[in-house]
Amino acid sequence: MDPTLIVLLASTAAAGLAALGPLPLLGRERTPTVAIGWANALAAGLMLGAAYLLMSAGRAYLPLEGAAGAALGIFFVWLTHLAAGTEELDLNRLDESSSVYGYRVMLVNALHSASEGVAIGAAMSVGVPFGIVLVVAIGVHNVPEATILCAVLRARGVRGGAAAALGVLTNVTQVLLAVVTFALLEAVPGLLPVTIGFAFGSLVYLVLFELLPECYRQAGRTTIALVTLVAMGIVVLLGGLAQ
Ligand SMILES: [Zn+2]
Repeated sequence: MDPTLIVLLASTAAAGLAALGPLPLLGRERTPTVAIGWANALAAGLMLGAAYLLMSAGRAYLPLEGAAGAALGIFFVWLTHLAAGTEELDLNRLDESSSVYGYRVMLVNALHSASEGVAIGAAMSVGVPFGIVLVVAIGVHNVPEATILCAVLRARGVRGGAAAALGVLTNVTQVLLAVVTFALLEAVPGLLPVTIGFAFGSLVYLVLFELLPECYRQAGRTTIALVTLVAMGIVVLLGGLAQ
């Protein structure tokens, strides 16, 4: 099978998992705040695990290019938040009533997913088996992230299939960037170290900047730290077993 097609199919499957996001909310009239915190910590841990695996793979390449790429990835996330005016936006406020809040959260989610698409494309370029491990980690993490988004949307009157569809829609950028990054690296393999660095830097920055700050107030520090680390550890372990 054409490797670009494998990237397209695998990243589409990962994005599609976001459709499961509303499931944990079924049968509950209100979303417990603590559950939002756990979902954030779970997504954060899976992202950190993916970032660790990328960094491990990147050690084989030029360290300076990787470091420059990481700085570029951090700068990219910082700049997109600055441009969108979302630097101080809490992404999981269920009581926020302004009309633009839902759109801004969706925009941030779409930009967030773009960096994860770069990570998938770079990992697939390292090798398809390694790429599949990253796709599984990012795909599973799409579920709790979609659960949080759906909780926000539900609080704004968007429910069921519509919320699930919007959860998947914000991950279209993941598929797009995975395919574009992979195709670019096929054409210019010399960009792999800087791209791995970019993905690593942006993923870790997203975790520190978007996912973790709010959830410490939602579920308690020990729980959040442990859920994050266990999720990260499972990805690192699976990545090690797959090599
Ligand atoms: Zn994420």
